[in-house]
Amino acid sequence: MKPFQYLRPKTVSEAVSMALDNPEAQYIAGGTNLIDLMKRGIASPPKLIDINHLPLKKIEHRYDRIRIGALALNSDVAQHKLVKTRQPLLAEALLAGASGQIRNMATVGGNLLQRTRCSYFYDVALPCNKRKPGSGCGAEGGINRTHAIFFNGSEVPSCIAVHPSDMCVALAALDTSVVVAGPAGERRILFKDLHRLSTKEPEMDTTLNPGELITSIEVLDNAFTGHSHYLKVRDRASYAFALVSVAAALQMDGGKIWDARLALGGVAHKPWRYWAIELMLRGQPPSEKLFREVAEHELQSARAGEHNAYKIKLTANAMIAALKIAAGIS
Ligand SMILES: Cc1cc2nc3c(=O)[nH]c(=O)nc-3n(C[C@H](O)[C@H](O)[C@H](O)COP(=O)(O)OP(=O)(O)OC[C@H]3O[C@@H](n4cnc5c(N)ncnc54)[C@H](O)[C@@H]3O)c2cc1C
Ligand code: SF4
Repeated sequence: MKPFQYLRPKTVSEAVSMALDNPEAQYIAGGTNLIDLMKRGIASPPKLIDINHLPLKKIEHRYDRIRIGALALNSDVAQHKLVKTRQPLLAEALLAGASGQIRNMATVGGNLLQRTRCSYFYDVALPCNKRKPGSGCGAEGGINRTHAIFFNGSEVPSCIAVHPSDMCVALAALDTSVVVAGPAGERRILFKDLHRLSTKEPEMDTTLNPGELITSIEVLDNAFTGHSHYLKVRDRASYAFALVSVAAALQMDGGKIWDARLALGGVAHKPWRYWAIELMLRGQPPSEKLFREVAEHELQSARAGEHNAYKIKLTANAMIAALKIAAGIS
């Protein structure tokens, strides 16, 4: 690991100023991703801005939403009474991620900004457009078993890696905003606009501006409690990143679906929300036939590589299973 200078700001605005003064500096929270990247030579920030002492751990309900501080630990969020009762989909997704030990270190802000797990990204001897822009994509002609099947229209992507987070798939399905502090003060980013697709600049995972610090996320109240499910398919039950995951949430009344949310993990460069399917489900009585029809409809746009064609059927089956459990008809 290359030497770095350690900085410890006392306030959010001091942290932002430190980051703006040192464009290559990076914030560090739990360190469960960043330290790995530094040890492997993928990230080498000359300065680390340790944000762990900032007052950003609070989880509270305000007006019509839960506000979760960026430094709240993944384990604390998953076990918090407000989250378990008002947003059980989020609690389920968090508990499906990583291991107990890692969840005890990992923070909400770090989870949002964790980097891909593509093995070519982690091997500095191999080409990777995300790690070294313009060097090529090792996975494209290499082993692409865990890679994406959904892209930005027909454009050729410069990176076919998938977003690794479980938490983010639940947040994509819910009405979430990400609150950030920057040089011009505070701003809110709709969750759907936080992560980027990979057409031109795969090295840029998000739409954050230089120096911006995530201070919290806000999840709006909803009527999905009792009818949501997070389903994760992975190679190893103890802990592993998702091959495919589904966050399904339904608002049910009188035997019909009145509102629906569906997001997928492990299939695209960002958590993948299924807006069209949600419209198709509204007003319908739930059934396996309906869920199969909507899944097959959406998967017509999937594009597999040499080794990940299995994901198309797996995604359809996972969507149907998650929707059935959410609807209570399994
Ligand atoms: C063995 C292993 C297995 C795992 N399995 C899973 C899994 O199955 N599912 C899953 O979802 N995740 C998994 N993870 C990833 C884990 O969830 C992330 O490493 C963790 O959430 C990152 O949080 P952190 O606080 O440690 O972030 P850090 O490593 O401290 O930071 C990560 C990035 O976020 C930036 N950052 C952190 N906080 C902020 C902030 N407030 N504002 C702006 N930038 C910020 C840092 O600069 C850095 O770029 C696994 C990790 C490991 C090591
Ligand atoms: S898929 Fe993305 S992260 Fe993986 S090698 Fe290609 S450019 Fe790099």
